[in-house]
Amino acid sequence: MSIHTIQYEGIELEFELIRKDVKYINLRVNKHGKVVVSASKKVPLSIIQEFVESKTLWIITHLAEIEKIRQNLPPTGFYDGKTLYYLGKPYRLVLSKGPRHIEILGDKIHLTTTSTTENALCDEYLLWLKQQAYLKFEEIMDHIYPLVAPYGIKRPTIQVRNMKTLWGSCTTEGNAIRLNLQLMKSSEDCIEQVVLHELAHFLYKNHGQEFYAFLSGLMPDWKERKSKLESKFKDGV
Ligand SMILES: [Zn+2]
Repeated sequence: MSIHTIQYEGIELEFELIRKDVKYINLRVNKHGKVVVSASKKVPLSIIQEFVESKTLWIITHLAEIEKIRQNLPPTGFYDGKTLYYLGKPYRLVLSKGPRHIEILGDKIHLTTTSTTENALCDEYLLWLKQQAYLKFEEIMDHIYPLVAPYGIKRPTIQVRNMKTLWGSCTTEGNAIRLNLQLMKSSEDCIEQVVLHELAHFLYKNHGQEFYAFLSGLMPDWKERKSKLESKFKDGV
């Protein structure tokens, strides 16, 4: 066993190298937070170091998770392999190093970046999610708004905010509705319910009987959609 280090974006990362009869190179982070690499004797050290460097993002996010487990904190971080909900479906987060780029391929969300901290990674994801949210919420407005147009409601502008407690809110003066970015985790039928709810507030300010009768008339299953949203998609990104 020998100890080596690599540098990544100013971060020094130490790893233990064990030479043994493995096919090529194996890398793992053990439960003590040590990076352990095993490699065949045939693989030169420079290749091993390059390999470890290419896995830095994965290593850093795993180390952060292990540190949380050791401190008895819940593993709520933003790490490679995390499950992210996007429009009601689970995706696996895949982190890799390179010029910033995010895309969904199959059941994976690929986030390529040079950022290394969990906070920076999460911020980049949220920034992308917000761009998607503006597009998706407008698209949902396109098919929900015609339901309320006959009642003289003007089509409002949409603002997206990452909020802790509210799914949505509306300002009748500014003719705008504000939707929670967290809605992007839920399915479209749930988002439609929130959009209709906020639109209805342009006719009825309070949650009175008339308000709910109006909702039920236009969307008979709004209650089921609301409870689905609240039971399934409550926790933050
Ligand atoms: Zn309301």
